[in-house]
Amino acid sequence: MQPTSTKPFSYETFPSSGLVAYFSMEIAINPSMPTYSGGLGVLAGDTLRSAADLGVPLVAFTLLHRKGYFQQHLDSAGTQSEDIQPWNPADFCTEEPARITVSVEDRTVIVRAWRYDLVGRYGHTVPIYLLDTDVDGNSGWDRGLTDHLYGGDTNYRLQQEIVLGMGGVRMAHALGHRLNVYHMNEGHAALLVLALLERQLGGGPLGADTEADIEQVRKKCVFTTHTPVPAGHDRFSTEQTIRILGGDRTARLEKQGCFRDGMLNMTLLALRFSRYANGVALQHGKVSREMFPEFAIDSITNGVHAPTWVSEPVQQLLDAHFSSWRRDNLYLRNAIDLPEDEILSAHARSKEALLTEVATRTGLVLNPKVLTLGFARRVATYKRATLMFTDPQRLLEIATAAGGLQILYAGKAHPQDEPGKALIHQVVEDAAKYSNDILRIVYLENYDWALGAMLTAGVDVWVNTPKRPYEASGTSGMKAALNGVPSLSILDGWWIEGCIEGYTGWAIEDGENDAEEANSLYKKLETAVVPLYRDTPEKWARLMRNTLAFNGSYFNTNRMVKQYTRNAYYPVKLIEQTKVEEEAFAD
Ligand SMILES: *Cc1c(COP(=O)(O)O)cnc(C)c1O
Repeated sequence: MQPTSTKPFSYETFPSSGLVAYFSMEIAINPSMPTYSGGLGVLAGDTLRSAADLGVPLVAFTLLHRKGYFQQHLDSAGTQSEDIQPWNPADFCTEEPARITVSVEDRTVIVRAWRYDLVGRYGHTVPIYLLDTDVDGNSGWDRGLTDHLYGGDTNYRLQQEIVLGMGGVRMAHALGHRLNVYHMNEGHAALLVLALLERQLGGGPLGADTEADIEQVRKKCVFTTHTPVPAGHDRFSTEQTIRILGGDRTARLEKQGCFRDGMLNMTLLALRFSRYANGVALQHGKVSREMFPEFAIDSITNGVHAPTWVSEPVQQLLDAHFSSWRRDNLYLRNAIDLPEDEILSAHARSKEALLTEVATRTGLVLNPKVLTLGFARRVATYKRATLMFTDPQRLLEIATAAGGLQILYAGKAHPQDEPGKALIHQVVEDAAKYSNDILRIVYLENYDWALGAMLTAGVDVWVNTPKRPYEASGTSGMKAALNGVPSLSILDGWWIEGCIEGYTGWAIEDGENDAEEANSLYKKLETAVVPLYRDTPEKWARLMRNTLAFNGSYFNTNRMVKQYTRNAYYPVKLIEQTKVEEEAFAD
């Protein structure tokens, strides 16, 4: 890692004039642009925000998602319905004059790009290009290729991935960028290697690539996997691949060993063509190496962009004591010294803002003094949103002992995820059934960036109950930590690294089944969380500042981007080599 210096990273810090191109299917760019679905997009956005702050020479590519990720509505029974969220790119972005084409199912699709300038703390700009096929000259179908994030079937998805990966590379060159490093954020962008390989071959005869050509591509590519289970990896059938990508290209990828179980596996493709690959937490690196033992896979644990996720009251508190945290998040370690009463009152203001929002949305007036738990995330069955209701009687006893308990839920299920939707239904039903004067359970509609920020800052404890090892990392608990909010969570993903029992939160112990893990959840509430919150506010304050000091100083994208920069983009061993190659930079 870079030594701490008084100056932030600057362009000159880096050995080469080449740029990093960051590719991601979704990026949470701006709270008013519905171009993201959840954790992956928020991580991508936070990565770019930190890259801009640190002066990392980087440009990014994503799709425009003109119809937006959906707005969620829940009826009183908890049935989810979805509305598209069309938005106007011209309100936020500048259209680039460049046009490129990609070939999809034997059709030529024209692609344009909208540029969003993400400006960092010291004025360094990271341009984000949002690729758009809604262009004159394209068929009606093709004009819709960049409309829906994770919409449609796998045919639609593969066509989108051609636009993102192959279109992105071509657009980068059309825009005149000199690129040294291509970072694939998850396998969705893996087809960029095909565009690079074809460039390497100078458009030469198909199938004539040599190991040396592949090596040239590998030298430029870096890949981050986010998926801890085989079923989660993006895959396409041979038939589909031949039909949409073409026979020659399919044969090329097959020859390079990118197929597994008769399917084009985007993770395998990305791994095969990358000089560096990583998982997003220590445990996830390990799990990924087990899934793909033939590859070296490192770990760079995720983070969040601190100034984006620290609430206004906590920002004021930190600024009053050590404003250096904005320049270098490592200084958040200084939170260990914050006055106890001040961290409690800053948190109380965040909590008040959250409860005001709850009242505005639902009409329900919650009590700011009462212990409040938060559980909000993309609703997938492995996250076990109903685990807390395993034994409602015991939950009620806990609420009684605590002098009241409030639980705030939020989360969208993917429109095609019926089990996920059923789970929301169940939580809403349980919330109605078990809520009373002592125990109040609320499900908030339309979990997004803004609501996520309020929840992670305003609740007292952040709860997470994934089934191991399905949580690659998770980042919402990090947002909570940056606000001094402890987690009560299964030891999966980032929490394996972040949990210091009793200091930064509590671990839900591993069990043989859901019931045993629910039992551990209740036990931690009964024996640790409730007594500490109810009886010893000064000890609670110390827990909060420990959380901020230990976890806030580490689980941020400021640290993470420095790791990517030195471990992945510009590892020291490549610097000399890059200097020499710069002379011969062809593009
Ligand atoms: C941070 C965030 C996520 C990711 O949280 P997890 O811990 O991975 O569940 C998802 N959605 C939104 C809106 C977020 O802000």
